[in-house]
Amino acid sequence: GHSHGQPAEQKPLVPGVKAIVAVASGKGGVGKSTTASNLALAMAANGLKVGLLDADIYGPSMPRMLGISGRPTSHDGRILEPMENYGIKVMSMGFLVAEDTPMIWRGPMVMSALQQMLRDVNWGTLDVLVVDMPPGTGDAQLTMAQQVPLAGAIIVSTPQDIALLDARKGLNMFRRVDVPVLGIIENMSYFCCPNCGHRTDIFSHGGARKEAADLGMEFLGEIPLHLDIRETSDQGQPIVVSQPDSEHAKAYRGIAKRV
Ligand code: ADP
Repeated sequence: GHSHGQPAEQKPLVPGVKAIVAVASGKGGVGKSTTASNLALAMAANGLKVGLLDADIYGPSMPRMLGISGRPTSHDGRILEPMENYGIKVMSMGFLVAEDTPMIWRGPMVMSALQQMLRDVNWGTLDVLVVDMPPGTGDAQLTMAQQVPLAGAIIVSTPQDIALLDARKGLNMFRRVDVPVLGIIENMSYFCCPNCGHRTDIFSHGGARKEAADLGMEFLGEIPLHLDIRETSDQGQPIVVSQPDSEHAKAYRGIAKRV
């Protein structure tokens, strides 16, 4: 068929990294970064060697979510050592600039920053490098999807978002650049009351599975809207590592096995 993707030789693989998987969303605020961090930690809990690249250059959230501060070091002044916590290796623009510094770069600078975080970092040997993509499906995301040698992409969506077709845009974007979509995760799938455990389908619920099927996408699983998920991430101790026996941690590990 007709392909808009770049030839493979223009996106060389990252030596030592077996697979690069993008976590993407049609728009911001759906819990993409929360999902990417917990998923990366769940993969590590399942026994994989995992790296996490925060490609959300304008709004890096991994330093805070993973409780990592400080700056990456370099032995030769060129290759950066990734930061590390909870057994995963992490690189983020948030380690390289102050948290309150506004990023007013243009596209090409963002791309070169991303390429450096991908290729000029000593990732070592990894089974999987999870890339937390910037939210949305605009030109920047398309270029990124083109220039990173992705093995596949996971789309995070809320139930509402699926209804509004934002997730469909994400699917189409990856299809345009010949990146296989591994499936869709429904986040904030339903609300769990932390006091009584009552479940409310706050954004309506259940459509995701059907939508995924209609779109020819695998449905990887659902994560509820739960206070513990937000609080643990805000504290820099994601639920997969701070409450490994919780239902939520199990759900993330289950999804991690499916991708
Ligand atoms: P995005 O990366 O899509 O912009 P974030 O991961 O930063 O979204 O999440 C946005 C906010 O929603 C954060 O405060 C986060 O803690 C919260 N959040 C995300 N997923 C959940 C969830 N399943 N339950 C509770 N809070 C969540």
